Amino acid sequence: MNKADSERLESAMNQLGLHKVDQENEADVIVLNSCVVRQSAEDRVVGNLTRLAPLKTLKPDLVFALMGCMVGPKTEELESTFPYVDVFMRPQEFDPLIDLLCDRLKVDKEGCIGVLEAKPSVSTYVPIIHGCDKFCTFCIIPYRRGREKSRFIPELVKEAEMLVQRGVKEVTLLGQNVDSYGHDLEGDIDLGHLLEKIDAVDGLHRVRFLTSHPNDMSEHIIDSIDNLDKVCEHINLPVQAGSDSVLYNMRRGYTRDQYLRKIDQIRTKISSVSLSTDVIVGFCGESDKEFNETLDIIKEVRFDKVHAAVYSDRPGTIATRKFDNDVPDDVKKERLTALENLQKKISTEINSGYLNTIQEVLVEEVNDNRARGRSRNDKLVHFNGSSELVGDMVKVKIDKTGAWSVQGSVISKPELATFAKR
Ligand code: SF4
Repeated sequence: MNKADSERLESAMNQLGLHKVDQENEADVIVLNSCVVRQSAEDRVVGNLTRLAPLKTLKPDLVFALMGCMVGPKTEELESTFPYVDVFMRPQEFDPLIDLLCDRLKVDKEGCIGVLEAKPSVSTYVPIIHGCDKFCTFCIIPYRRGREKSRFIPELVKEAEMLVQRGVKEVTLLGQNVDSYGHDLEGDIDLGHLLEKIDAVDGLHRVRFLTSHPNDMSEHIIDSIDNLDKVCEHINLPVQAGSDSVLYNMRRGYTRDQYLRKIDQIRTKISSVSLSTDVIVGFCGESDKEFNETLDIIKEVRFDKVHAAVYSDRPGTIATRKFDNDVPDDVKKERLTALENLQKKISTEINSGYLNTIQEVLVEEVNDNRARGRSRNDKLVHFNGSSELVGDMVKVKIDKTGAWSVQGSVISKPELATFAKR
């Protein structure tokens, strides 16, 4: 979500005639986009704010802006700690900086057409719903990003059409909880309806979405993924823990069995789907037995990928107020290593099944004649290719596989129109 916000702001600033520079001391405007999902991320932002302060003394006209999840309820505190910061912007609220820049540059803001379009590349993000209503006990997001607010379908379709005109081939629809899209809009609208509309955008070749919540992934959404040609067969469905007691304390709203039933429902409908998940290890009070239940669910589901993180206290969350962060750091690290080793083995086994298969790959980047792209079910694919392939859909025969990516060689560059759901 932060990456999408940075791209949109960069695009707006480009339209004001501002361009990226390599060195901080060459900049006329410095924007820090902050993340607070973990304490270490927040600490890094504070470190950068402190480190960059002397630049403002050397160059008083420098515009210094802080955006993202650090800005919000504590803005007054931030203003007094960092008085040299000119602008504080909540997530997606770019106006204070744009207004200041327009004022300094003597530019009419209304004249900046499409000032908040995403910066185009082959594959880009489109935020469709902001905020989250779930209030999982470990998570700070609902306090910083606010309650869920869906964007309107016509506006999103228009944005997708504009992106296609500017060369985008794949969009990833983003939300903290993307599956709850539409519940706050008038009428019976959900993510499935939006996927249908985005799927119909001419010139767009792929649609993805992130991140799902097991309780909101409805049958209609699953059917839409299955039925729509451009919607890729990959779902990130965070489980967070495999033990009912930990899930209860996390307030995730489902049990282990309910989660497993959802996975069954998805796999029964979409046989070629790849699945990834998010896991937190060492949550407050997590015992060895409870952690083993997490390992068990990972063995049982056999996800393609697991994003694992060690639990850390976030002041302001329910978990920090209600529970003790009592799993020792060394135990957390051991658990993380055990989980990562298990997943590495599973990912290696799953990816080895791709050997000698032919994958449709959207080429995202080429460096030194080495191309990189992703298959429909989100496998990172490397192969030899020249830079004019960027943006093309190619067929790659896989000849080498590993835990995190696969390699192969291009066998043809067919017409894009021939690609369809398997
Ligand atoms: S659903 Fe995700 S974003 Fe929302 S509170 Fe839970 S973990 Fe945080």
